[in-house]
Amino acid sequence: MANMVYEIGILGRMRIDAHSLNNEGTIGNVTEPRTVILADGTKTDGISGEMLKHIHAESLWQLAKAANINLCEACKVMSPMRADGNSLVTSKERAPDAVKEALNCVVCDTHGFLVQEPTVNRKSTVEFGWALGIPEKFYRDIHVHTRVALGEKKREKGKEAKVSEQMIYNRPTRSGVYAMVSVFQPWRVGLNEVNYNYELNNKSQKERYELVLDSYKSMMMRLEGAMTTTRLPHFSAFDGVIVTSQKGVPVPIISPLIEGYKDQVKKISKGANIKEFGSLSEFLATMDTLKELIPYRLGVKE
Ligand SMILES: [Zn+2]
Repeated sequence: MANMVYEIGILGRMRIDAHSLNNEGTIGNVTEPRTVILADGTKTDGISGEMLKHIHAESLWQLAKAANINLCEACKVMSPMRADGNSLVTSKERAPDAVKEALNCVVCDTHGFLVQEPTVNRKSTVEFGWALGIPEKFYRDIHVHTRVALGEKKREKGKEAKVSEQMIYNRPTRSGVYAMVSVFQPWRVGLNEVNYNYELNNKSQKERYELVLDSYKSMMMRLEGAMTTTRLPHFSAFDGVIVTSQKGVPVPIISPLIEGYKDQVKKISKGANIKEFGSLSEFLATMDTLKELIPYRLGVKE
């Protein structure tokens, strides 16, 4: 019988050059990059977990669409409302049914949702921490750009002619080696956490499990965040470990911020269920090997 998988942890370091994947916000014409302060007071560069989770959700959505998998009305158009757009259940006593209905949608099931009436929420089965720049391995620069207003010359003299032909703006560009952490909980796929019944049979749970793995592959192949039209990330090195656990044991999450994180994870897991990867291609191949595993199911009646 195939091995069961309870949780999967992905811990790694990725090198991304000249990107601007997400930002603090724009004040005037200056866009501020994300800054995170570490426990020792060190300021470093970061890409938020929200951004990474969004990239994963979008990859999942694209794969689901390509496979003609039916999604809820909100997720069909990638609305953040998710299952809150479902309308079949309105009674407060019927929270289990609201969840059951929501679990028909793979995006709602795996990425979580909040339904306001009846009030039920679902925690995502996929979690991401901030990707944090290794303190001595990141650089930031603010570049000044000029946008030339096209068609300006065609304008006739008058009010509009007062508008400057050029607009000056400042955009951050960042390069760094980032520590990333992510956890996926296959055992919760299809699990209704109001009544603790699985709303999916084993086959459907496995199919969704594989779709989530493929979404990780898609997102790492192409990190689609902010400003990618002009700051398409130069993604190069990627190495780390993929840890799997069985039967209710959580995977250890040791931050790749520290040197020797791989050894620590190996010690905790006693070497079992750890796959190292040294490049993006090895990561992709390793994710494919995880498809041989079967998602764990809590011992409850179906
Ligand atoms: Zn949905």
